[in-house]
Amino acid sequence: MTPLWAFEELLAATGGTASGHFDVTGVAFDSREIGKGDLFLALKGAETDGHLFVDKAFANGAAGAIVSQPVSHPHILVSDTMQALEALGHASRARTKAKIIGVTGSAGKTGTKETLFAALDRCSRGRAHRSVKSYNNHVGVPLSLARMPADCDFGVFEMGMNHAGEMRALSHIVRPEVAIITTIAPAHIEFFRDESGIADAKAEIFEGLIEGGTAILPADNVHYPRLRAAAEQYTNRILSFGFSPDADVRVIDYLNTPHNGTLINAKVCDAMLSFTLSQPGQHWIANSMAVLAAVHAAGGDLASAGLAMAEMGGLSGRGARHDVVVTGGSVHVIDESYNANPASMAATIGQLGLSGGGRRIAVLGSMKELGEKSDHYHRALAFPLAAAKVDFAILVGKEMEILAEELKAGVEGPKEFAHCATAQEALILLQQYLCASDTVLVKGSNSMGLSSIVNALTGGS
Ligand code: ATP
Ligand code: MG
Repeated sequence: MTPLWAFEELLAATGGTASGHFDVTGVAFDSREIGKGDLFLALKGAETDGHLFVDKAFANGAAGAIVSQPVSHPHILVSDTMQALEALGHASRARTKAKIIGVTGSAGKTGTKETLFAALDRCSRGRAHRSVKSYNNHVGVPLSLARMPADCDFGVFEMGMNHAGEMRALSHIVRPEVAIITTIAPAHIEFFRDESGIADAKAEIFEGLIEGGTAILPADNVHYPRLRAAAEQYTNRILSFGFSPDADVRVIDYLNTPHNGTLINAKVCDAMLSFTLSQPGQHWIANSMAVLAAVHAAGGDLASAGLAMAEMGGLSGRGARHDVVVTGGSVHVIDESYNANPASMAATIGQLGLSGGGRRIAVLGSMKELGEKSDHYHRALAFPLAAAKVDFAILVGKEMEILAEELKAGVEGPKEFAHCATAQEALILLQQYLCASDTVLVKGSNSMGLSSIVNALTGGS
């Protein structure tokens, strides 16, 4: 098996001092993720020190380690293991011929990254690479780069930030040839003056674009002109995407089916493409346009991308769907328990509104990190709940109290609602109410623990 990194490459990249000689087949900093032949990076975090887990990593099969204190196993000694990880990221970027795509945005990064990966992996017959999970910060991004095989054709990297300046640093490591901004919305807004501040911080991704690179921008977003102006400072290759008739990559028309996704006719610059998107919902249609724009810009094959999108299953916690057997039939569960912000809440409540047949139930947990506008954004959910004709809303958590008060005061919203403090109480209420043919949306910030409700309904863990 070709190693991911030859020992000499590791040494040259990190500038460390060798003890032993080892090639490696993978890289991890969590000893539980180490497999046979992997490199263990002993990172020092705020809570723990990876050096405490070196023996465990070798017990799990590590071939070698990068450490800042000598250990009794084959290793490379460096002064700072985090810098060594960044150096590996840079070395990976420098040695690859792959087309590199960076994905950022206030929502939809992971979904877009996974869809784009599936599309490009199909085009390249298995020679695409991507970051795993939401590994999108100063540790996850260089780690994902360090894991990229030298000979792949495409690399897709999720890039996130909570503060101004962070995206710039990531973009100089990734040096994308194609940079996507999915959308700008109030996520992590407590760390910014306003949404324009978020747009500017995301637009830092363009600072690392390589010469001749392409910026892919959300045409329907209110901050589109601002993003475009920022991108134009770094490139004249810009593709806009969305529903707007002016977008370079756009939806011509679409048909939503209740349970079988969406049939879409799209225009991708000069080409037409008809495809099925397995994941229903307006926001996934928009994300799919970003995917097609990126496939086009990276020289991938649009027809393969269309096929890949039809085959994709929903992602756990981000729109995965389950049919659960109950007395007299089944209920349909939409699992959005992984995260929530005002834009994604509105988008998925809208998606619930498309469900056919039975009653519509929304179990909505607090949206976190919204700072002083938190009350405003929670209150504002009354409108999409009314528009989607939701039959019963179970509101969970402290931040949702304000919406419950608003609804009690007679503001138009769901037909019925209840408020409770915890996911456990919400589950009890839901189980009392639920009957065959209902569709249930479960969505909230991850820390609200609403995945426990999905697990209880579906028998998952
Ligand atoms: P994180 O910052 O937590 O890594 P993310 O940007 O990776 O989040 P995803 O995990 O892909 O986002 O999606 C999270 C949720 O955002 C989805 O479950 C969906 O509800 C919603 N979403 C996805 N795409 C969009 C979009 N374009 N606009 C609004 N909401 C979206
Ligand atoms: Mg993510």
